[in-house]
Amino acid sequence: SASQRGKLISAGYTSLSSLSSISSSDLARELKVSESEAMNILKVASHSRGSETSNASCSIVEGAQSAWDMLHDEESLMHITTSSADLDNILGGGIHCKEVTEIGGVPGIGKTQLGIQIAVNVQIPNDFGGLGGKAVYIDTEGSFMVERAFQIAEACIEDMSEYNRFLRKDFQECKIKMQPQDILENIFYFRICSYTEQIALINYLDKFLSEHKDVKVIVVDSVTFHFRQDFDDMALRTRVLSGMALKLMNLANRFSLAVVLLNQVTTKHKEASFQLALALGDCWSHTCTNRIVLYWNGNERYAYIDKSPSLRSASAAYSITARGIRN
Ligand code: ADP
Repeated sequence: SASQRGKLISAGYTSLSSLSSISSSDLARELKVSESEAMNILKVASHSRGSETSNASCSIVEGAQSAWDMLHDEESLMHITTSSADLDNILGGGIHCKEVTEIGGVPGIGKTQLGIQIAVNVQIPNDFGGLGGKAVYIDTEGSFMVERAFQIAEACIEDMSEYNRFLRKDFQECKIKMQPQDILENIFYFRICSYTEQIALINYLDKFLSEHKDVKVIVVDSVTFHFRQDFDDMALRTRVLSGMALKLMNLANRFSLAVVLLNQVTTKHKEASFQLALALGDCWSHTCTNRIVLYWNGNERYAYIDKSPSLRSASAAYSITARGIRN
């Protein structure tokens, strides 16, 4: 009914798929309706999804893509530099568009710094080998520092000016027009305070990205926080998270953008010792395309490719300077 639709939309459920992994009791609580009414809503949604699926299967049958075309598509895909040449090198050029890359590590290792750096670097213009895109930054922990983003943006512009000075004689003509303020204006920042808000935002991104096609990266800092804080039912948590990762993967594909999920670490007991492992469990570990673990080796920061379908496992040192991430 119209009133049920109104309640659903104001609770952040703007598509049928957003109702795919919620239980009737949770929905009842969120919409402040009886459990039987919530069950009815879920039944209707599930029925409608069924007809969507049969439409989708028609479009699947219509066109397969050849592996040759896929290779061509992949070669034309751009990467986002991390500002560390060594890290870019082991990543095959930087953070890949059309893929979900998870980056995890202990507190203070530099996950947020890397997230901010990527949100700035995605804006490097095409003339400088960048994507000239914009960024969506989803902050679940309140760790995004706008002053730090400004500093990193200033350094990025200085580096581009230096590059210009080095390569081109007519420097005055090629002077960078970009200002740090422009870079900050191109980062769409969302502050998220609960896992329901996080799910609702991921569902809303579809519409947002259709209206902002120049967004080329989504950073979620961190994907874990509210799910570790507020969730008791682990099986449901896994289902909800997998659904979320699937949606992000679809967005990465449809809008040719990179998704970067920052994750916390946890300790795992193995062979009489404790080892660090990325949070959210084994099931979650299969949902991202690439997994990068950041760790300390003495006083040096390192990044390690833990899982990737196309990159070899390798480590690279990186540092955090006043100008941002560097070698
Ligand atoms: P995480 O998100 O993994 O918890 P952060 O990305 O917040 O960690 O990184 C914090 C670290 O970044 C600090 O410990 C500090 O060493 C480094 N850092 C932050 N700002 C600067 C800066 N302006 N200059 C040099 N290092 C910095």
